[in-house]
Amino acid sequence: VAKRLEKFKTTIFTQMSSLAIKYGAINLGQGFPNFDGPDFVKEAAIQAIKDGKNQYARGCGVPDLNSAVAERFKKDSGLVVDPEKEVTITSGCTEAIAATMLGLINPGDEVILFAPFYDSYEATLYMAGAKIKTITLRPPDFSVPMGELRSAISKNTRAILINTPHNPTGKMFTRDELEEIASLCKENDVLVFSDEVYDKLAFEMDHISMASLPGMYERTVTMNSLGKTFSLTGWKIGWAIAPPHLTWGVRQAHSFLTFATCTPMQFAAAAALRAPDSYYEELKRDYMEKKAILVEGLMAVGFKVFPSSGTYFVVVDHTPFGQKDDIAFCEYLIKEVGVVAIPTSVFYLNPEEGKNLVRFTFCKDEDTLRCAVQRMKEKM
Ligand code: GLN
Repeated sequence: VAKRLEKFKTTIFTQMSSLAIKYGAINLGQGFPNFDGPDFVKEAAIQAIKDGKNQYARGCGVPDLNSAVAERFKKDSGLVVDPEKEVTITSGCTEAIAATMLGLINPGDEVILFAPFYDSYEATLYMAGAKIKTITLRPPDFSVPMGELRSAISKNTRAILINTPHNPTGKMFTRDELEEIASLCKENDVLVFSDEVYDKLAFEMDHISMASLPGMYERTVTMNSLGKTFSLTGWKIGWAIAPPHLTWGVRQAHSFLTFATCTPMQFAAAAALRAPDSYYEELKRDYMEKKAILVEGLMAVGFKVFPSSGTYFVVVDHTPFGQKDDIAFCEYLIKEVGVVAIPTSVFYLNPEEGKNLVRFTFCKDEDTLRCAVQRMKEKM
């Protein structure tokens, strides 16, 4: 393997999902729903395939999907963007992240991440030759330590990556936090890369896009995808929205990473994004019920559960159960209890910082969630 990737292991999601299969454990680890996406979206994909929409798509996206993304973004954030010049369709948000890092970061540029962070940020920044600095969000509320952030910014800082609602903690950045980060970015000429894939799973407060704050659109790349909102994580349809001067970098990288994204699924994605408001309301209602089952269950089992405002994740402190760290706890949970969670130490530069925390997902049908809780109640 190339030196730039030597230090990375098989992703924790792959490791944990294989263990789930091996031990027949209930998988509350990797964040993928065990229920299907909506029929009208699947029908639209089948129709597009039958209609012969099967050759390469336009590199930056099928025009109708670029427009649907822009329409949705206007509804959500109030911003009017040019679908042709400011929207790029990618193969999942993970590709949008890679294209953003590779298209806009030079070797030696500093990029600030909030730990715990989704693993692909670190790996793609390594590929881009960036220098990574992390600011740790600490329980119980995972709020941004503004003083630490301010002192982490230097003349070499090129970007700050924000993920709200935040994987793995479920934290949502408050308006105050976003405003303070925004002023730091404007004062120091820093970009924001904003991963908002869980924006439709915002339960305790309204989601705010960094790009919608005054003066921020011109320095922000907003990334999102279809997977979480439409329970279609395997379709890998994502996008990046950014002003033309930033879109240029993203598109150049995208051209040589994947060139274009799966054509028929892009037509179906356009149909999905035009879903009526009732779809989004129902999604949220369903998830709030699932969340209640898992959170109440975990508390009854004896975990200290940290409040999660959004995403389909919740983070707990496992230390009441006496395992030495998060990895040992997850092994015990799989082998002795039959439930899979994700250890969080892999989401920090310094694994020590995550050793008391594990993440559970509630993107599963209610029976599965109840059954997992039951196993824990009986065996722990
Ligand atoms: N984003 C999903 C999670 O955090 C998994 C993505 C992946 O498997 N790479 O669980």
